[in-house]
Amino acid sequence: MTRRQETFLLTEEWMTSPWKSQPKTWRDKLYDLVVVFSEIVASSQGNNRASSPLESIRTEIDKALQVEAELSAWKSSWLNEAYPRHRFRCHCQSPAPFSCLCSLSASKFPTADFALLQVECWSLQLLISTTLSKLSDPRADLPVWIAHLPGRSSQIANNMDEASSFLAFKRTTERSSGVTEGFCRTIFPTWTLREYRGIKGGDK
Ligand SMILES: [Zn+2]
Repeated sequence: MTRRQETFLLTEEWMTSPWKSQPKTWRDKLYDLVVVFSEIVASSQGNNRASSPLESIRTEIDKALQVEAELSAWKSSWLNEAYPRHRFRCHCQSPAPFSCLCSLSASKFPTADFALLQVECWSLQLLISTTLSKLSDPRADLPVWIAHLPGRSSQIANNMDEASSFLAFKRTTERSSGVTEGFCRTIFPTWTLREYRGIKGGDK
């Protein structure tokens, strides 16, 4: 083996082995769903809704609901496995295809990591809810849950606002502390909230 081949193999080993040997974190699994969903968002923005065939809109809605179901499963496993000693009660009464929005109140968040991951989870729930609202087409026979979406989106946005007052969360996300992991992790939540509220440009 030449030295060059040896170096190549070593580099390849170095680049792939961490992903092979380390199991995915809860956050990795959540972001796998974010990536799948971002494709739905991209294709739903590219289409002119009025001229889209109903069939393709129905397909997009089904895909979105599939991600929502997977997110629901992710959330239960995360809370049950990572926080087995906490009691999470559901009082949001989300209709059948939707994931539960409930969490601990922000003052009872056990760790900053919990706060970040909870907010990232709400961000994807908000993005799915607002995308489904955009996909709802008056020509289609709409399922009953469509009417529930604006209230759901607003509930999620309120939860996210409340969480941003959590002290440890604030500290990890302050810009003045530089490009920290916490700061980077607020990029997706900040973007989804701004999209939801229709805030364009500016710094706030
Ligand atoms: Zn709930």
